[in-house]
Amino acid sequence: MTAPTLSPATTVTLSEIVKVRRALPTAGRRQIGAWCFLDHFGPTDVAKTRGLRVGPHPHTGLQTVTWLLRGELLHRDSLGNVQAIEPGALNLMTAGRGISHAEESPTPHSPEIHGAQLWIALPDSVRNMAPAFEHHARVPMVRPGSLRVSVLLGELFGERSPAKVHTPLVGASIDVPAGSIATIPVRPDFEYGVIVTYGRAEIAGQRLIPGGLVYLGPGRTGLPIVTGAGDAGLILIGGEPLAEYVLMWWNFVARTKPELAQASRDWNAGAEYLGDVAGYDGPRLEAPMPPWA
Ligand code: MN
Repeated sequence: MTAPTLSPATTVTLSEIVKVRRALPTAGRRQIGAWCFLDHFGPTDVAKTRGLRVGPHPHTGLQTVTWLLRGELLHRDSLGNVQAIEPGALNLMTAGRGISHAEESPTPHSPEIHGAQLWIALPDSVRNMAPAFEHHARVPMVRPGSLRVSVLLGELFGERSPAKVHTPLVGASIDVPAGSIATIPVRPDFEYGVIVTYGRAEIAGQRLIPGGLVYLGPGRTGLPIVTGAGDAGLILIGGEPLAEYVLMWWNFVARTKPELAQASRDWNAGAEYLGDVAGYDGPRLEAPMPPWA
């Protein structure tokens, strides 16, 4: 068992209004299990704005996971799904060989938005599968001791999410009240990452505030969590280390650089397999060409 490591997130701007903490990938770490992307956005005051608006853009080779702590988002995709999401619900979009979607704050919307979007790399065996979208109005919730655990994907504390994934992994959102001393049971064959969405907490001895990620390598059976005077929120991700070399460019996940360049070209040329999003009031995003193309 290796010592836990703490890495800072990078800050990126999404939709000009909402600041995002990107905990994965960072310079030091590209994946945790099949998880290859973790954006934590907000809480942001969007009361006097149109809120979050991300125009039509494509994905390949991955699944996107959307989870909100506050506010709402409206998802539209090229399969024809138009789905609002609120706290407690889960959106899981499987890009497979290609899909496109847009995300926006509905009108009207709550004064604040706070949430996370995560990506899971699809294993090579299914990464060219047909695209799909799942909305789960509620995910399993369990209250071990003082904790409140929403199981987004996989299994934790004996509760299993109905959402479909393609490699052994787990994702959970955990509310930890002030003054808690708890242990999350984990699998020794998984590696894990934890971020704090609000408040502060100590994870396996590492102090964590929003903007950092604690990485825990395989070999553990429990994850000690301690909070002080205030409540804290965590997102836990974990999985079997993926034995595949995954490459990312923009919104695409693939295995080779030429594939990524081709996907960018295809989107900008309007290729049919990446789909078309109806009903979004704004321009579609243009794919930047990779420097090697
Ligand atoms: Mn997207």
